[in-house]
Amino acid sequence: MKIAAFWFRRDLRLEDNAGLYHALKGEHPVLPVFIFDTNILEELEEKADRRVQFIHQHIVALDKQLQQWGSALEVHHGTPGEAFAQLTAKYDIACVYTNRDYEPYASRRDEEIARFLKQHDIAFRTFKDQVVFDYSEVVKDDGKPYTVFTPYSKKWLSLLTDDHLRSYSTLKYKDHFHKVNHKAIPSLQSLGFTAGRQAFPPEAIDEALIRHYSKTRDIPAIEGTSRLGVHLRFGTISIRTLARRAGALSETFLSELIWREFFMMILWHFPRVINTSFREEYDRIKWRNHEKEFERWCTGQTGYPIVDAGMRQLNATGFMHNRVRMIAASFLTKHLLIDWRWGEAYFAKKLLDYDLAANNGNWQWAAGCGCDAAPYFRIFSPQRQTEKFDPGGQYLKAWLPDLGSEDYPEPMVDHTVARERCLAAYKKALQR
Ligand SMILES: Cc1cc2nc3c(=O)[nH]c(=O)nc-3n(C[C@H](O)[C@H](O)[C@H](O)COP(=O)(O)OP(=O)(O)OC[C@H]3O[C@@H](n4cnc5c(N)ncnc54)[C@H](O)[C@@H]3O)c2cc1C
Repeated sequence: MKIAAFWFRRDLRLEDNAGLYHALKGEHPVLPVFIFDTNILEELEEKADRRVQFIHQHIVALDKQLQQWGSALEVHHGTPGEAFAQLTAKYDIACVYTNRDYEPYASRRDEEIARFLKQHDIAFRTFKDQVVFDYSEVVKDDGKPYTVFTPYSKKWLSLLTDDHLRSYSTLKYKDHFHKVNHKAIPSLQSLGFTAGRQAFPPEAIDEALIRHYSKTRDIPAIEGTSRLGVHLRFGTISIRTLARRAGALSETFLSELIWREFFMMILWHFPRVINTSFREEYDRIKWRNHEKEFERWCTGQTGYPIVDAGMRQLNATGFMHNRVRMIAASFLTKHLLIDWRWGEAYFAKKLLDYDLAANNGNWQWAAGCGCDAAPYFRIFSPQRQTEKFDPGGQYLKAWLPDLGSEDYPEPMVDHTVARERCLAAYKKALQR
């Protein structure tokens, strides 16, 4: 029997899933597939990686739901090339459906799989799912990509119609899944990972929180942001559902979702930003790159409480509040003159909501070298930021039990001295 396959990647949900909807509406029963991709997994150093645990949990849940409908998730562990060689040997596949993924590795992977499938006379159909607008939809009148957020955001909003945010009623077609016998999902251990005791943020949209978002989002001591980053990263929530429901309640929140797409679009059009500054002249900066100082920053021992609290929150939970991410990133690049790529790589290892486009875009923003970055001479004062956003010191108290004791380190660098050193280094690099 001819079947179709639907390949899950960063869209780990059954409801309102664009590619899955089109697959289920097609003429063939649909085999749902997931690949634990060794090209990605082998790059991860931490064996208790929270992201792998999160994915694994959701794969198990997807499979359970599919079993209730007489189907099951076909799970592979290997490279996508290996997995598709096995799939095409085992099944008579007419078409593979999937949702588009815009990161450079994903594009290369998909080109390779599309070529392989073509050789076997199998169609490969991709759909827009993880964004409201794809890379070529929000562009300047001359077709060129935007590189500044405000005009991008204005255009994004001007193009938005109810249709863009309408959910795909995938579940109406749930009888069209291919009926298969269930096979056990590989355990985390068999994938080479271990499970920590990790509680993940719920994927529910907290409407009361979103209503107050513009007032609460900058206060790290409270739960004033949605914590939906990881769900957007792995598609356990639909961007259409979220933008429709939350966007109607808070323009500020919607604007953050637009930032997300802006950075995805920058990465798509300018993949060189993975290695180089968007404004290339900033790559002339002579970073100090002091390894011991970097270590103090990573472990939250800089003697600047707001930076240390953020880094310790990150190390302990995989999350850091956005305001504190900005302060910690600014401190690393400007106070310590350490290359933003070092900080970016550390966040990439630790963040549960790690996303290449958002991480790279925000690090470049903080370092001043990004496409729409703050001018480099605006250097955050950690102290003033703390007075403004954690005036009662609750955030500091929550993460720094040693604050005020002899164990807490002295500031590793004087703010005024560091500021002058930074201005001089940036000026020198940009003068030439
Ligand atoms: C140095 C630095 C590194 C960052 N690295 C990442 C990263 O790896 N992955 C990531 O998703 N975000 C990153 N951000 C952006 C932002 O800090 C997080 O999206 C946010 O803190 C996640 O928490 P939340 O889900 O509660 O966000 P909310 O405030 O509730 O926002 C909702 C969603 O909007 C999007 N969003 C919000 N702010 C931004 C932003 N500035 N840029 C892009 N998207 C945004 C995210 O998808 C977020 O989940 C980074 C910011 C900085 C300053």
